[in-house]
Amino acid sequence: MDLGLNGRWALVCAASKGLGRGCAEALVREGANVVITARGADELQRTAEALRALNPAAEVRAVAGDIATPEGRAAALAACPQVDILVNNAGGPPPGDFRDWGREQWIAALDANMLAPIELIKATVDDMAARDFGRVVNITSGAVKAPIDVLGLSNGARSGLTGFVAGVARQPRLAGRNVTINNLLPGAFDTERLRKGWAAGAARTGQTVDEIMDKRRATIPAQRFGTAEEFGQICAMLCSAQAGYLTGQNILLDGGAYAGTF
Ligand code: NAP
Repeated sequence: MDLGLNGRWALVCAASKGLGRGCAEALVREGANVVITARGADELQRTAEALRALNPAAEVRAVAGDIATPEGRAAALAACPQVDILVNNAGGPPPGDFRDWGREQWIAALDANMLAPIELIKATVDDMAARDFGRVVNITSGAVKAPIDVLGLSNGARSGLTGFVAGVARQPRLAGRNVTINNLLPGAFDTERLRKGWAAGAARTGQTVDEIMDKRRATIPAQRFGTAEEFGQICAMLCSAQAGYLTGQNILLDGGAYAGTF
């Protein structure tokens, strides 16, 4: 199926690695032009080269910067001639005990995982509506549906974004003009972020990384970790021309790990 993305412009935040990169790859394969961001310029440039090789017809621009800051967002927006597709993403907050977190830690989590996406939505959706096409995909977390104790900063910040999106996605001036806003909730995906967590767990417990991975894998009905590639493909489907009636949803991609009916 042609997803109707050829020639569209996408801003994909936090995309030099992992899930963001998976989204950028899928969009480029579908013919979209992309602006990708990350803080580390070298890795970002390498990823931009790899994306260009995937589809030489697509234009790929790389903007180094911190998407959690106003300057980082302004640079990313300035590089994108028009934002037809916005994929909101940033690194997740660190794990810990809420007793150790003060205002500084909370503000950092809110800046990256709640306020940055809200600011970018604010900067783009009305122009999308004026053009009668827009797709916003926020990468959040399965922890929004099934909170993880030690990820309290993430649970809190992402739940705030989720509540905001539930309201704004249903504004007739957006939904009625073919602008959709949805959240993609990853379960366990084999990315650098998870690998670092497994390595830290191995150092803490004396188990090997393989043992830790095997135990975690066994808890997932699909019996495997997700890949950034398949995550990106679902993102591209949400961004497709065909997905205009799908908005305000929280879509869990977790191989069946969440055991609830709804
Ligand atoms: P990852 O492999 O560590 O990749 C993170 C990417 O984001 C890198 O390109 C990183 O590059 C960039 N980045 C991080 N902070 C940024 C910032 N402030 N501004 C711009 N770019 C930034 O992580 P991932 O596994 O893909 O995770 C992506 C998001 O999904 C995270 O919020 C994570 O918490 C969430 N999540 C992931 C999983 C999973 O299984 N992987 C599960 C649930 C939720 P630089 O470091 O160079 O900036």
